[in-house]
Amino acid sequence: MGDVFPEVRAKQKTIEDVIRREEEAFNKTLDRGLDLFDAEAGLERFERAVQMIESLPEFMGDTGGPAEFDASEMSRAAGYQKRDKLGAFVRRPDGTVEKKISGDFAFKLFDTYGFPLDLTELLARERGFTVDITRFEQLMGEQRERARKAQKKEEISVEKADLEITPTKFLGYDFLEAEALVETVLRVEKPQEPAVVLDQTPCYPEMGGQVGDRGMLHVPGHDRTEVGQLRVIDTQKYGDVFVHLTQLIQGRAPEPGEAVRVSVDADRRRAIQGHHTVTHLLHWALHEVVSRDASQKGSYVGPDKLTFDFSSAPLMKQQVRDVEKLVNEKIRDKAPVSWTEIPYAEAKKRSDIIQFFGEKYGDTVRVLQIGGVPHALNGYSMELCGGTHVRSTGEIGPFRIVKEEAIAAGIRRIEAVAGDAARGWAKQEAARQQEKFEAFSRKKPDIESLPVFESEASTSEMLQQIDASCAS
Ligand SMILES: [Zn+2]
Repeated sequence: MGDVFPEVRAKQKTIEDVIRREEEAFNKTLDRGLDLFDAEAGLERFERAVQMIESLPEFMGDTGGPAEFDASEMSRAAGYQKRDKLGAFVRRPDGTVEKKISGDFAFKLFDTYGFPLDLTELLARERGFTVDITRFEQLMGEQRERARKAQKKEEISVEKADLEITPTKFLGYDFLEAEALVETVLRVEKPQEPAVVLDQTPCYPEMGGQVGDRGMLHVPGHDRTEVGQLRVIDTQKYGDVFVHLTQLIQGRAPEPGEAVRVSVDADRRRAIQGHHTVTHLLHWALHEVVSRDASQKGSYVGPDKLTFDFSSAPLMKQQVRDVEKLVNEKIRDKAPVSWTEIPYAEAKKRSDIIQFFGEKYGDTVRVLQIGGVPHALNGYSMELCGGTHVRSTGEIGPFRIVKEEAIAAGIRRIEAVAGDAARGWAKQEAARQQEKFEAFSRKKPDIESLPVFESEASTSEMLQQIDASCAS
């Protein structure tokens, strides 16, 4: 097969790597699960509780006794403070006892530790237990339902005909505020939450990982008074039309044909832009430090944080620190960030411009460039991107990777913060460290005191203090 498909042979090592990593990850999960199964779940406690139940007077009675006991009750009786329901002990008609692991506990193993149900069953069987599958399935169903609900965006009743109007013109690369004409107002059945479509807007709609803008929409009256004020809580894209999801604060909603003034929440947008540009820097730095093959699988860019998913082996701690350091260097460089529109046919020929193959691009694409001469398409980082960005890497502020983890076989996720979000994170982290230390020093009063985090210290100093106290 390798000869027919040379790329299969070339990819074989990668595939083998992925399979091996998956196996390792699975074994690790098993180890953790087994620990929990033995230590935390305390199967011995089960056994002891069984003995206790069997020695209880109720059980001895010839009335048949109570049919069921709660393991947690028994645990408490035995001096255990554990509040989790671990299992039940069901007395069969013949007087023997069925030792049952609760569905809640089996689900906890699965949900928290990725412990598969059939393994729980196997181990349970070895120890003479059964597992409450019905309850397990019920909890699985509830979780699926929660996930489905969380995923489901608030449906707005949009008639397709309503949206067959002129595409919305996006002004948000250059402006944060604009006058616009109301094309249509949707969701009239919820008059307090109208969805407004304008002919043009500075509000960025959720797209390419970047969240939708928030802002304000003002309906001016004829004599410089204001007849309506609405808060834009999200901006979404339906085809080529942007929909502003709003909440009426005062007055009335705008009407089709009316002129309105719309503005973006500038602080929030600034935070989002910093996170978007730094996502590109992160992507570039991963290529430099880890591998050219670390390709992007998805991202979230919000005001609070960014996440970046990519195909790779797990990163070593040192690699994470190196990536973080490199990104911070590029931020200190204050490199220019520029964007240029070029024909897609031209972009396709450039191997130095990152693009998603298989993604549908229009005839004209935007290239986001970091470094180099602005618009000369000679930056160190160049990607096709429709998002909004800062103008200089210096605007990003401090950058910190807070998590690096697996989200699927061969796919890693980095969670990071920059700018004010990083400052906020550093403050919280410093407080957490301080708390941990204080709790520790109460137990061991003779311990050398930890240098107090200076709440006025700059973020980079604070981050250094955090690193130092983690290392010690
Ligand atoms: Zn981008």
